[in-house]
Amino acid sequence: MALNEALKVFDRRQTETANGGATIRRPIAQHTFKEETMLLAERTLKITPSSTSRMRELANELKKSGVDVINFAAGELDGDASDLIKNAAKMAIDQGCNKYTPTLGMKQLREGIAEQVSKRCGTRYCADEIGVTAGAKQALYNAAMVLLNPGDEVIIPRPYWVTFPAQVELAGAKPVFVDTRETAYQLSAEDFEKAVTAATKAAIINSPNNPTGVVYGPDSLLRIAQIALKRKIWIIFDECYSELVRNGATHRNVVQLLEPVKCQTILVNSFSKSHAVTGWRLGYACGPKHVISAMENLQGHTTSNPCSISQCAAEAALHNDDGRFIKNVNAVLGERLRIAMLIVGSMKEITCAPAQGAFYLFLNVERKLGKSFRGRVVENVATLCELILSEANVAVVSGDGFGDPTGVRVSYAIGTKQVEEGLHRMKRLFDRIV
Ligand code: PMP
Repeated sequence: MALNEALKVFDRRQTETANGGATIRRPIAQHTFKEETMLLAERTLKITPSSTSRMRELANELKKSGVDVINFAAGELDGDASDLIKNAAKMAIDQGCNKYTPTLGMKQLREGIAEQVSKRCGTRYCADEIGVTAGAKQALYNAAMVLLNPGDEVIIPRPYWVTFPAQVELAGAKPVFVDTRETAYQLSAEDFEKAVTAATKAAIINSPNNPTGVVYGPDSLLRIAQIALKRKIWIIFDECYSELVRNGATHRNVVQLLEPVKCQTILVNSFSKSHAVTGWRLGYACGPKHVISAMENLQGHTTSNPCSISQCAAEAALHNDDGRFIKNVNAVLGERLRIAMLIVGSMKEITCAPAQGAFYLFLNVERKLGKSFRGRVVENVATLCELILSEANVAVVSGDGFGDPTGVRVSYAIGTKQVEEGLHRMKRLFDRIV
């Protein structure tokens, strides 16, 4: 009952919003399909609502109706930001940091990021090679818009973060997916090479990975970088979760492994996940000067500078951070992962991608599909996720949205007790799907 009510509220909202953004109230009966296509540009047909926000909203509706829901659908850290970064933001307002800044960020911040990235990559980046953006999402969007022409192909390992193909399509280019399920959820150099054609313009690699939690190993990354270098393919390397690694894993990007590929790589990073400030909207792209300069022109006509207060706070964090905050975050996530893997390991017929980074578990539920729960066939992964929500009161995200109809994403960036309870509930339900 409660789930049906939540679905009704959710679906009503969906009809009131267009493109996941601006609210357009449209009494459905008064508009024909033809009228709707007249109202919107064709490109909007390529944009679908985010599957992650659908589950989050459903879980919230259920919670509001009094159900004890465990929400594994979150895409951000549960804890608050550090006092250091919060106090720096407050000070920035008081000190009058309230005006426009240069489009791609304040000079000191770009220099600070350049210094940090140079240290990390073992090669020199200067401030002109850094563009500060409203989150990593804008850095990725800028990259798609300035690098891709209609008809270009972009290689994207599958499962993927849902925004990658959406942005590629918005640029008029064509996503070419490479399934990674048989290669431990990492893009293998062989599969990458096989997917390359004369039309390949770029590849988007994301490590640590959303949705799988996998951290790419150096060997395949190095070989991919070598192939990209030889075939003159751009690498858009999303390392938003670079600070969130555990279980002895080390994060590496392609520039660290092969310096010459720097001139055809866009590194994308964010303060969202490393500093628990997703709402502040601050990320950055690192790439060749001419690419960053093209991004500056684009951003100058779209959003202008990212939030000035976030920039000041990030600069303070860069210069004064002693590393304790992220160490604590990783310690807590490490303990949750340990507990989670014990429970997941005891789930029959369920396997899990090797989770070493970000804060996601990606379960392969293929062997449950086609089986039944109380006489009802679990036809596909979306049905399974609805069952998990209605029967176990646990919200997870269906792999469909990530291009994998056999997977389910679980975020363990929620309280440790909840991780334990939620996974136990899922296990009890899975045991009854036979
Ligand atoms: N890349 C990946 C892989 C992500 O998971 C996310 C956030 N979910 C982003 C980029 C966007 O992050 P930001 O908040 O910095 O825009």
